[in-house]
Amino acid sequence: MQKRLNVLMEKCPQSHPCPSVKVCPVGALSQVGFNAPTVDHDKCIRCGKCSNFCPKKALVLEEQ
Ligand code: SF4
Repeated sequence: MQKRLNVLMEKCPQSHPCPSVKVCPVGALSQVGFNAPTVDHDKCIRCGKCSNFCPKKALVLEEQ
């Protein structure tokens, strides 16, 4: 089953630079200001690194 990375807005405090943006190996995460990061689903290879790194568990790989 295909997975998809979802950003849980209610868990992201949106008050700091997102640390997970830097761990993505393919540059699929981007952030404007302190907003929650956005995912480029065409780039994302669904590796789960950002999901494991996010201290607030706001990035979640979910089955579609
Ligand atoms: S799941 Fe992997 S490829 Fe996708 S945004 Fe997160 S770190 Fe990047």
